[in-house]
Amino acid sequence: MLSSRAALGQARGTAAVGQPMPYGVKLPDNPQRAKRPDSVGFAIVGLGGYALNQMMPRFEQAERAHVAALVSGNPDKLQRVADAYGVPPQSRYSYEVFADIASNRGIDAVYIALPSGLHAEWTERAFAAGKHVLCEKPMALSSAECERMIAAARRADRKLMIAYRCHFEPYNLQAMDLMGQGAVGQLRLIRTEQSYRMGPTSPMENWRANRALAGGGPLEDYGIYGLQAALYLSGEMPESISATAFRPSNDPRFAEIFAHVSSQLRFPSGAVAQLVTSYDSAGINAAEARGTEGALMMQPATAYSGNEMVLEAGRDRRKFAPGDSTVQFARQLDHLADAIRDGAQIRTPGEMGLRDLRLIEAIYGSAETGRTILLNPDGTRRS
Ligand code: NDP
Repeated sequence: MLSSRAALGQARGTAAVGQPMPYGVKLPDNPQRAKRPDSVGFAIVGLGGYALNQMMPRFEQAERAHVAALVSGNPDKLQRVADAYGVPPQSRYSYEVFADIASNRGIDAVYIALPSGLHAEWTERAFAAGKHVLCEKPMALSSAECERMIAAARRADRKLMIAYRCHFEPYNLQAMDLMGQGAVGQLRLIRTEQSYRMGPTSPMENWRANRALAGGGPLEDYGIYGLQAALYLSGEMPESISATAFRPSNDPRFAEIFAHVSSQLRFPSGAVAQLVTSYDSAGINAAEARGTEGALMMQPATAYSGNEMVLEAGRDRRKFAPGDSTVQFARQLDHLADAIRDGAQIRTPGEMGLRDLRLIEAIYGSAETGRTILLNPDGTRRS
């Protein structure tokens, strides 16, 4: 394990740089359908795998959101994608001219789908241009960055939402309801595992292996789903955290990031959450909440589609099918649109992203020092 985060090299800078067309992208055959007159126009910033394969195709299902503009560092990709989605030439931007979006009245909001280490800078730039922001998870790589983003939103008097899609996903919503109703009795234990095996790569080749763009690695990228689940299934904030992080030597994938992070959260009720996340073990995406009367088990827990959920209590085993998980993408777009147009309360605001970065910092702090870290209810360290 590394003695300090700062000791890790930063082989690649944090400039926004265009990338090739991601693998497996299917562009739409027809431009977007017309939306209602108060539909919110989004500028998509960063035409990567998640934006092109998941989010952009789902605008079609949103009632009140449409793709109004694109921002990319790859001009050929920009043209192909813009043509397919029917984005006019005057609404296509490079990173260099991003500030010009300020005068484009068709853009209400900016969707930040850049590598995580670029979220803070480009969110602040979007607010400086007077736009609302939907920012991908993790909100940023430090709580200090999150605080700056929240302050920028306030100054600009614009909305800031973090794209925590599970808060719009039927299985996770039902899990929150069931836990709120005491479906497992008194909660004792939560266990979450978010892992996969990263293929051969290096910090120069892949931003996910690069500390400046990915932070500590799997925890910010994938384990954050387990952290989120632990909080929304328990309905509590941890009062203490202990953790361990592992980085193998002589593996270019982990030259700058951790391979595994494992943490234990203790809640005021006495319940405990054990969270594991890894970039170097066989794939799993699971969450389980176990109480005095039963257990709620989700696997996959937070997938784009195909989630499964079972409640076991005594001899009863109940399987749930609360709906199509793929609605989560359009629902989060419509949610921000409702906040912008009607002033609806944002379910996943910047403050939630900040809370999670504080906990992530506590996890790394514990892993680094080998000590349990005590927390205030807002996730800051108890002195
Ligand atoms: P990709 O690597 O596929 O795409 C990132 C895009 O960002 C690139 O294609 C590029 O777009 C742009 N970019 C600008 N500067 C850089 C740079 N220096 N290095 C690499 N790319 C750069 O990443 P993902 O789409 O998988 O992830 C993007 C964000 O979405 C991350 O924050 C991630 O955490 C989040 N995410 C969220 C998921 C969810 O379920 N909510 C799932 C997956 C990712 P261009 O070429 O157009 O400039």
